[in-house]
Amino acid sequence: MTYSCLHTHTSFCDGAADVETMCRAAFEKGFDSLGFSSHAPLTRKTGIKTNWHLSDERLDEYISTVLEARKNWEGKLAVYLGLEVDYIEGLSGPANPDIQNLPLDYIIGAVHYVRVPKNGELFTVDGPDEEFCRGLEGFDNDGMALSAAYYTAYNNMIRGGNCDILAHLDLVKKNNDRFGFLSPSDFRYKKMLTETADTIAAARSADSERNPVVEVNTGGINRGRTADPYPSLDGLRLLKERNIPLVITADAHAPDHLGGHYETAVKTMENAGYRTMLLFTGRQDGKAGWQEVPLE
Ligand SMILES: [Zn+2]
Ligand SMILES: [Zn+2]
Repeated sequence: MTYSCLHTHTSFCDGAADVETMCRAAFEKGFDSLGFSSHAPLTRKTGIKTNWHLSDERLDEYISTVLEARKNWEGKLAVYLGLEVDYIEGLSGPANPDIQNLPLDYIIGAVHYVRVPKNGELFTVDGPDEEFCRGLEGFDNDGMALSAAYYTAYNNMIRGGNCDILAHLDLVKKNNDRFGFLSPSDFRYKKMLTETADTIAAARSADSERNPVVEVNTGGINRGRTADPYPSLDGLRLLKERNIPLVITADAHAPDHLGGHYETAVKTMENAGYRTMLLFTGRQDGKAGWQEVPLE
């Protein structure tokens, strides 16, 4: 198997190691390529302050550090520059001009934030327990209502365009193993997943500039929170029915996450009927380049 990871965090945001350390770890693990995807700055345009996003002040330094690593590792490891961009209705998204004007190889579109209907408060579905439980309470502890808000945001992000990679499709389930707020076999949940798969299929035929692909993300397994990748088998089956291609990522926040649980990702993809995956080949003529390779 050719190893790569396009979803990688460093100490520029909430990762444990710097760019150079992650490059060395990837090279030592036999990776062909490594793409960095810091959480894109949020504060200046939204007022939201967190300890897990790249700061506005360090954006230029992040870009130059990754581009320098690309030069240093040339011939040994292909290094790519990306960002993981939060979609928050009306506030932030991959289509924002401040993101589009950056010299990025690719953009990962992600929904972490959901708005509580009653008071308009934002919270993250993958955040600390206290934050998550307060958010769920805002939905009267109705996991289906929370999921509906999450997938509505996710579908709007896809329709907004400008994503190369769609991040952790069913992240809303992250805390379900522990808090049991949702039955993923419920037909209402299945319907949300199906609609999302349909929206991706439609975006792939309409958006020729940035044709979104879906990541199979082992970040939840790497951090001991989930048994399955995002998306899990039910989601992958729906994507397979629509011939939506997949790229495997670790959502790496530390060197030992790189390549972590890729065999679980492969197995789940095979169970869903996939025989191939994508490898990134860089941005050429304004488009993300992908190569389809066998899943082995
Ligand atoms: Zn994320
Ligand atoms: Zn991430």
